[in-house]
Amino acid sequence: MSFERVAIIGLGLIGGSIGLAIAEHLPGVTTTGYDADPAVRRRAAERGLAGTICETAAEAVADAELVILCVPVGAMGEVARQIADALPPDALVSDVGSSKRSITRALTEALPGQPVIPAHPVAGTEHSGPDAGFATLFHHRWCILTPPVDADPGLVASLAEFWRALGAMVEVMDAEHHDLVLAVTSHIPHLIAYTIVGTASDLEEVTRGEVIKYSAGGFRDFTRIAASDPTMWRDVFLNNRDAVLEMLDRFLTDLEGVREAIKAGDGDSMFDLFTRTRAIRRGIIELGQDDARPDFGRADHGA
Ligand code: NAP
Repeated sequence: MSFERVAIIGLGLIGGSIGLAIAEHLPGVTTTGYDADPAVRRRAAERGLAGTICETAAEAVADAELVILCVPVGAMGEVARQIADALPPDALVSDVGSSKRSITRALTEALPGQPVIPAHPVAGTEHSGPDAGFATLFHHRWCILTPPVDADPGLVASLAEFWRALGAMVEVMDAEHHDLVLAVTSHIPHLIAYTIVGTASDLEEVTRGEVIKYSAGGFRDFTRIAASDPTMWRDVFLNNRDAVLEMLDRFLTDLEGVREAIKAGDGDSMFDLFTRTRAIRRGIIELGQDDARPDFGRADHGA
């Protein structure tokens, strides 16, 4: 089954990109959209992020076959409760949230009996809001589906087909594993970026002007990540607490190891580590998940 009517709740970077990608890749599909912020709804209408922009979430989902919640992780449960009575009984409810265990719990509790298959497109930028979305955001990026054990395999296949039509590659795993994998590949790196940028801005003996002037020395790449949306990331750390704490402990142990190597003048172990990490970077480029150019090719995508 392919979905002909899709409702998008939350019209920022991810919701807007889904709407634009549907218009580009699935022109026969009709879309409705809703955002809690009236200014976002107005801008979404101007940019054509959905075919019809509705005044309530209930109105947006009333005739939908697929509903995708694209709001911050902490708002998923509240939105699910808002739409519960308006949903057609067979409509599939999915989402795009960056942590999956807590969202699965929130959605299945708020929507008993409703088909629910959470998902996470691992694609994004540091920008947010209705102007940030673009149709190619999901091209050649992974979208992870985390169906509950009792999910209908036909619906899982349909949702996978939907994401592939938007240009994504699809992987299926359980929510717990997703949260552990994403803790190490996304959540801890963001935590490190937020921390190092905070540390640099608090230094007294190095001026803020010097931090900005000499940022090409590595700091600049952290500042891009540390510019990510504060609401989104607060919610990620509140909702993926256990996996983040587990991976943070591992990271702190390894950081302590590097600290000891520096203290002991142990160049060999540092050289070994840096050689291993360089190979990981090469692997990411070979898989087409980043660009080898010095600006990572980011100047090109216009996001
Ligand atoms: P965004 O650009 O800030 O968009 C979220 C939109 O949802 C905002 O317009 C927000 O309005 C609106 N909203 C908040 N609460 C709402 C509610 N109760 N009902 C309706 N609309 C509501 O954020 P985003 O980057 O698209 O992130 C959306 C989701 O995608 C998050 O769950 C995030 O974890 C996930 N995600 C993000 C990325 C990324 O790189 N950004 C990647 C993958 C997945 P206000 O601004 O007025 O609150």
